[in-house]
Amino acid sequence: MKPTSPTSCVSETRLAKDGGAPAVVTKLAPLVRWGEPELQQLTEMIRQPSLFYWNGPQTRLLVERFRTIFPLRHAMPCSSGTAAIHIAVHAAGVGPGDEVITSPITDMGTVIGILYQQGVPVFADLESDRYNLDPADVRRKITPRTKAILAVHLAGNPCDLHRLREIADEHRLVLIEDCAQAWGARFAGRPVGTVGDLGCWSLNDFKHIGAGDGGIVATNSEKFGSLLQRCGDKAYDRVKQTRAPEFLAPNYRISEPQSAVAAAQMLRMEEIAAARNRLGMRLAEKLAEIPGLRPPRVAKGDFCSFWFFMLRMDPSAFRCDRAEFVEALKAEGAAAGAGYIPTPLYRYPVFQNHNFFAGRWPVKELGLTAIDYRTTRCPEAEAILETAILCPLNQGMDETFIRETAEAFHKVATHYRK
Ligand SMILES: *Cc1c(COP(=O)(O)O)cnc(C)c1O
Repeated sequence: MKPTSPTSCVSETRLAKDGGAPAVVTKLAPLVRWGEPELQQLTEMIRQPSLFYWNGPQTRLLVERFRTIFPLRHAMPCSSGTAAIHIAVHAAGVGPGDEVITSPITDMGTVIGILYQQGVPVFADLESDRYNLDPADVRRKITPRTKAILAVHLAGNPCDLHRLREIADEHRLVLIEDCAQAWGARFAGRPVGTVGDLGCWSLNDFKHIGAGDGGIVATNSEKFGSLLQRCGDKAYDRVKQTRAPEFLAPNYRISEPQSAVAAAQMLRMEEIAAARNRLGMRLAEKLAEIPGLRPPRVAKGDFCSFWFFMLRMDPSAFRCDRAEFVEALKAEGAAAGAGYIPTPLYRYPVFQNHNFFAGRWPVKELGLTAIDYRTTRCPEAEAILETAILCPLNQGMDETFIRETAEAFHKVATHYRK
């Protein structure tokens, strides 16, 4: 009989890397992400006289479907998640020297828009168990120059939006949510992206839902909402049909082919998020039984949509380092890797050399900031990256695969336990 929980797995203790039977035997079918609904939208689109986003039927449908899930008055589809965040930061009024407090464990897309607006990313440290902004450290990082908080829901696990909202309101800061990894996630029952002043999503090829590339930025605020379209489209006003740009803005337009695929993907979104939540919560529950491993914490009442599953290992609990632990997991057939991004963002060469604009950083040269990324330290973020083990997770997996993955962790942990 197959063991039903990792703790009952006593039948085979020899590691696969030492010649034992691997714990993970389930073969996953390739993930099918597109089908009839996408084909139908693309077919309709091909008959259109124009593939331009403004007044495009596909882009309209995308916005309509987006808004049935995220009840936000203004939504601007655009070319990427990076673009969505840049538009949000621009609409929020971030200008030269304005500080935006954000996470050091994220995609570059989180900070690119801040820098292009001549704003200054200020990295706050993270919660040890959820890898999201630590509200206490956010508070410590506030200065008279702080303009916004840009919260990243890493891997689909909601930030503490209650406390971040409180801090933002207290200091009159704009709260922007980076939901690129958090399609379908909910904070205390509310979809993430609807608690902050502006929400940003990515539709790149690797996210829960994708259109090759694409993004959406949305808000309930009239003040920010009235700017979104112009901030993403050369400051041309498509509503008034005027061409009198009042400020500088890039072309971040989406196109009808992207919107066609994205509109169809939107129909699948909640099911994908639900499947990932079920599998991720199951894996977290099973790994919590294993001493020395710390699965991610999902707060009570929150819904994590697990873009991936990241846990931490306590190296002092084992006779091996993380690399050896992960090699043993891989030999068991588990999908696992050591770490996530190589270092926190501030350690990337672009930050270390302040190489933002042809080797220069005008904001610093003009004395608008004193920040030096060579001295930035976020100890918890660094510790997270040094101890993290990442398991890819997706809706094509099943309970059996998750159980076997947990068994692999159990075998390896038991073998190496001190
Ligand atoms: C993917 C991602 C982005 C950027 O999205 P793109 O569509 O690739 O530009 C921004 N933030 C986070 C957290 C991401 O994961």
